[in-house]
Amino acid sequence: MIFNTISINPEFIKTYFEFGINAKAMSKAIFKINYWNPLKYCEKKRLDDSPYGGGRGLILSYPPMKKTMVEIKKKNKELNLNNTISVLMSPQGKLLNKQLINELINFECINIISSRYEGIDQRFVNKYIDIEISIGDYVLSSGELPLLLLIDSLVRLLPDAIGNQNEFHYDSFDSFLLGYPQYTRPQKIDNEKVPEILLSGNLSQIQQWKKEQSFFKTLIARPDLINNVGLSEKEYNYLNFIRNYMIYKSWG
Ligand code: SAH
Repeated sequence: MIFNTISINPEFIKTYFEFGINAKAMSKAIFKINYWNPLKYCEKKRLDDSPYGGGRGLILSYPPMKKTMVEIKKKNKELNLNNTISVLMSPQGKLLNKQLINELINFECINIISSRYEGIDQRFVNKYIDIEISIGDYVLSSGELPLLLLIDSLVRLLPDAIGNQNEFHYDSFDSFLLGYPQYTRPQKIDNEKVPEILLSGNLSQIQQWKKEQSFFKTLIARPDLINNVGLSEKEYNYLNFIRNYMIYKSWG
C-alpha cells in the first residue's frame, strides 16, 4: 500500500515510522510512504494567507496545494496507480472508525493531507478531496497526528504486518466486539492468578473462553457496539444468554 503524505512537516511523520511494527513492516516493503511538502510548490514561499471576511488565523492557500496535488496525481499515473483516494484530515470530516478503515484498506494508494492553521481554502477541498476524515470531536493544531493515526490503523491490517496471521486472534472492533483480557508470566502475582483455562492447552475451549470474555467486556463497557450484525446463530444465542444472566445478576 502506498501513502502519499502532504505536510509541511515531513520529518515529524518520518520519525514515527522509525519505530516498532511500522518500521518492520516498512522494511519488508509492506507499505511505502512518500513525502510531499507544499512549501516546495509555493511561489514567493507564500503557503498561507488571511481569511476573506475577516477572522482569526491563516488559511492554506489554493495555488501551492493544487500544485502539490497535481504533482502527486502525475506521479500516481506514471506508477499506474488507479485505485487511489484523496483524504483530508479535518475535524469537520467523517469520524474514523473500524468500518471506515475497512473501506480504506481496499485502496492501493491513499493521498493524505495534513492541514494546519485554520484549514485550507474551501475551493481546494471541493476540487481535490474525496473524503474528509476526523479522528474525534475536538480540534488539534495540525493534521500530522490524525494522519499518523490513520496510516497506523491501516498498516496493522496489511497482510504480514503483524506476527503470525495463522494464530487465533482478534482485535477490539473486529466483529463488533472489544478484545479479550490478556495475561503473561508470572502465573501468580499479588494473589491474582491467570485464569486456569488459559493454562489448559485445550485450544477450542480457550477460543470459546476468549469469545465469551469479549462478549462480557463489550456488554459492560460498550453495549452500543453490539447490534447483532455479523453474529452467527450460536453467538447470538450466547449473547442473549449473557444478557439474561446480567439482568438476573442486577436483580440479585
Ligand atoms: N478551523 C478549523 C480547525 C483547524 S485545526 C475548524 O474549525 O474546523 C488545523 C488542522 O488540524 C485541520 O485543518 C486538520 O488538518 C487538523 N485537525 C485538527 N483537528 C482534527 C481532527 N479532530 N481530526 C482530523 N484532523 C484534525
